[in-house]
Amino acid sequence: MSPETLPETSPSAVSVIAEQLRRAQPEWEALGARGRAVWLRRLRDWLLDEHERITDVIQAESGKTRAEAIAEVPVFCELLNYFAAKSPRFLADERPRPSGGMSLHKRLRVLRRPFPLVGVIAAWNFPLANPGLDVVPALAAGCAVLLKPSELSPLSAQELARGWAAIGAPPVLAVVTGAGKTGAAVVDEVDFVQFTGSTATGRRVAAQAAARLIPYSLELGGKDAAIVLADADLDRAVPGIAWGALFNAGQVCVSIERVYVEAAIYPEFVRRLTEEVASLRAGVEIGMLASEEQADIVERHIVEAQAAGAQVLIGGKRDGVFVAPTVLVDVDHTMSCMGEETFGPTIPVFGVADEDQAVRLVNDSSYGLSASVWTRDHDRGLRVARRLEVGAVNVNDAIVNVYALSMPHAGWKSSGIGARFGGAHGVLKYTRPTAVTVPRLRRPVREPGWFPYDEKRTRRVRRLLRVVTARGRRRFTLPEGSTR
Ligand code: NDP
Repeated sequence: MSPETLPETSPSAVSVIAEQLRRAQPEWEALGARGRAVWLRRLRDWLLDEHERITDVIQAESGKTRAEAIAEVPVFCELLNYFAAKSPRFLADERPRPSGGMSLHKRLRVLRRPFPLVGVIAAWNFPLANPGLDVVPALAAGCAVLLKPSELSPLSAQELARGWAAIGAPPVLAVVTGAGKTGAAVVDEVDFVQFTGSTATGRRVAAQAAARLIPYSLELGGKDAAIVLADADLDRAVPGIAWGALFNAGQVCVSIERVYVEAAIYPEFVRRLTEEVASLRAGVEIGMLASEEQADIVERHIVEAQAAGAQVLIGGKRDGVFVAPTVLVDVDHTMSCMGEETFGPTIPVFGVADEDQAVRLVNDSSYGLSASVWTRDHDRGLRVARRLEVGAVNVNDAIVNVYALSMPHAGWKSSGIGARFGGAHGVLKYTRPTAVTVPRLRRPVREPGWFPYDEKRTRRVRRLLRVVTARGRRRFTLPEGSTR
């Protein structure tokens, strides 16, 4: 079956499926984190057994290279391993200490209960791994999951559903197919929506979720920058930036989409980057784009840049859904290639006077997903990271922060709201806290602050509250002349 022949799940069918998932969820929750981990590990084994076949599906529906498609199953398995191992601890009851005198007489406990039904709406750029980033932690948290993959890449998600059924897991994962209408129907049914996609669609999803007063988390677009400082090791920076910009033909939310290079090394950097890009082979390192529409955007950015005075040093050509990797120079911030998300194989390079100018230009963006800093001085890299308005910074690397599941992946500005991963946060975001207080000691039948109020009791309570809130003996006692 091809994406074109998959049926579009109607809103009423989405509703029926959501109801079935809701019915199955309590049993899934009751398994506990350890019981659920057993199923996550079985899914891992199934995926590894089916690795080659699923990679064929991913490659066929995305047009990416084999070397890039082959990584998606292992990425999914890493997620399964991490959340299977860690969730029991992450989801354990918290026992916070009392915050002050007023809660000193209570034992405090925070329980975590999953949102019964989580909707995951995914982008097409990593047909299996992208849904996995959110489906896995939501399942680990004890939620049922309704997944809506992109209409451009629904087959890998179907494989996931097939695997879940094949291992005999409880029926708490379902995949619905179709375009925006199906996505909107998902938002109408679920208790929490996790969305990955463009900023424009993210806004619509947020408005719809707000109308239903359900929480949401949005992973949106980016215009990620690389800063190459004069002391950078170009033997690493040049191939690292080429890979960070062109991996998956640039269709990665955290792709490098603009490069700022300090003047002292600008000519050498540009020369070496152009040589590096010239060595890349179509179909081996550089795959196709996912759609004609995506290729149109990339082509428009190149053509508009050239019309405004930019030079193409290599690439710049389009053939159907393939765009040759392209290095652009003489660019500025009025050009679409520097302001809008390209999501394609372009590398615009901008020469800057110094670090301050680079930082200013990186921050001059409506997006704030991630950035990279290339320097031999790691402390300086960290100092620059503190000045950037982005959710992640890699020093002398690109993209890699996304694989560090113990750190949050969260965009600033128009790049998103909420975060995925971040250690315990990765699963806790799919839960609601229940704060429970239990008496520490046997107490009198009535608490001093309860009814009835009378002068004597009020005075006693006031004294007590003074003792627990005052700091310094001078204020323990009531001021002279105070009668109440
Ligand atoms: P879109 O916004 O076009 O679509 C994202 C998903 O939303 C798709 O499944 C789409 O369905 C669905 N959708 C469309 N309209 C609606 C609606 N009204 N209500 C609910 N769902 C809807 O993004 P793309 O698929 O083109 O993905 C590319 C974008 O994703 C880029 O901007 C990229 O930066 C971003 N992205 C962000 C990541 C991050 O972690 N920050 C990671 C990966 C990608 P359909 O496709 O079937 O129309």
